[in-house]
Amino acid sequence: MNYVSTRGTAPVLDFEAAMLSGLARDGGLYVPETVPQMSAADIRALHGASYEDTAFRVMRPFVGDTFSDDTFGELIEKAYAGFGHGARAPLVQLAPGHFLLELFHGPTLAFKDFAMQLIGQLFEEALTRRGERVTIVGATSGDTGSAAIEAFRGLDAADVFILYPHGRVSEVQRRQMTTPAEANVHAVAIDGHFDDAQARLKDMFNDFAFRDGVRLAGVNSINWARVLAQVVYYFSAAVSLGAPDRAVSFTVPTGNFGDIFAGYIAKRMGLPIDRLVIATNQNDILHRAMSSGDYRTDAVAPSISPSMDIQVSSNFERALFDAYDRDGAAVGQLMDELKSGGGFHVSQGALQALREHFDSGRASEAETSEWIARAHATMGELLCPHSAVGVKVAEDIRDPAVPMVTLATAHPAKFPDAVEAATGVRPALPERMADLFDREERITRAPNDLAALETLIQERIRT
Ligand SMILES: *Cc1c(COP(=O)(O)O)cnc(C)c1O
Repeated sequence: MNYVSTRGTAPVLDFEAAMLSGLARDGGLYVPETVPQMSAADIRALHGASYEDTAFRVMRPFVGDTFSDDTFGELIEKAYAGFGHGARAPLVQLAPGHFLLELFHGPTLAFKDFAMQLIGQLFEEALTRRGERVTIVGATSGDTGSAAIEAFRGLDAADVFILYPHGRVSEVQRRQMTTPAEANVHAVAIDGHFDDAQARLKDMFNDFAFRDGVRLAGVNSINWARVLAQVVYYFSAAVSLGAPDRAVSFTVPTGNFGDIFAGYIAKRMGLPIDRLVIATNQNDILHRAMSSGDYRTDAVAPSISPSMDIQVSSNFERALFDAYDRDGAAVGQLMDELKSGGGFHVSQGALQALREHFDSGRASEAETSEWIARAHATMGELLCPHSAVGVKVAEDIRDPAVPMVTLATAHPAKFPDAVEAATGVRPALPERMADLFDREERITRAPNDLAALETLIQERIRT
């Protein structure tokens, strides 16, 4: 199984190399050269399978010979053993024809655990075999960082540094990053915004002496292995609702487009998905782009669904690559326009190709709160603000004849203030992490300065 870059000029890689490199050298993102197919019989055979077994069968063809069947199966088992629900991704009913896919039963209570827990295992196995070690640096607005620290804590093959904006993540998110005591994980609070953290991370990747010196690696959402892990729950949910003999639609609270792109891959593999609905908050660049064809960045407006507060939706590049018939030069040109002029226009043909699969909608701040309250009062569900954006958009758009599955991307207890403001109920943390507020924190403060951050990392990595 080969992986090619969306900009067309980086070397073609196998699964292992694509996973370990993250971003392609031409600035593009890796995608599979061809998408493996699952027949109706293959999909039917998933009825009654465990989540782990489904994961093995869905992901196996993408992994090539990077791992043996036995090893890959064991890594999947280990990845999901720490989840707080036996079904891993349970489906609950909200209304006739509308279902909620609960993706928040992992160790840090957001869907990012599905990919990050697996990637931790895959990195450890591949790097140990190669006799190598890497330094993972990530920037986070909260959920990615906690998921990465939780996934890599105590592993031998990687030292992990997570940069987060000081004072700008929720207390639950901060404590999930600062309380693990293992020596290989470090939460670094920098002075500035999320954009500053992300900019310093990019600077580190562009400082080749530093990059090579510490063997820098990335696990942000553009890493193909993360997308792949998320394909699995589209299968498990659709099969529960009758696939391959009944089509299903999905609504996905979207920021960087990684999660919904995984749904698109599931569809390309043969899963009968009718519509994939992009749900955005007030930072609605994707909804505007799907409506008008104009993809144009604007200032980020902080919202009560902060994990979707983005300006540039990185994984959208992967969808554009297919919409432009896999023309890497055309995608490269759009990305240059984005960089130099803050936006680009999607061609009529490409827009039509995107609309064949994707719909879109947005929820304002007031609508998000209103739907947290409404779902609590009429559906018996406490939703996190991101999931409420999804439920609102799904209710606006859905065709009653096709079951709709909305992805619940985080546990309400991860965003207790917004939930309490809307419902009067303060959601409790699950039992297994009820002592989070009693655990000791380890915080490193750092200035928003490249040289200082590089020195800090060099001093702390294990040699
Ligand atoms: C990351 C995140 C999202 C957005 O997912 P993308 O893959 O970036 O589109 C939505 N909700 C929550 C809770 C998240 O953590």
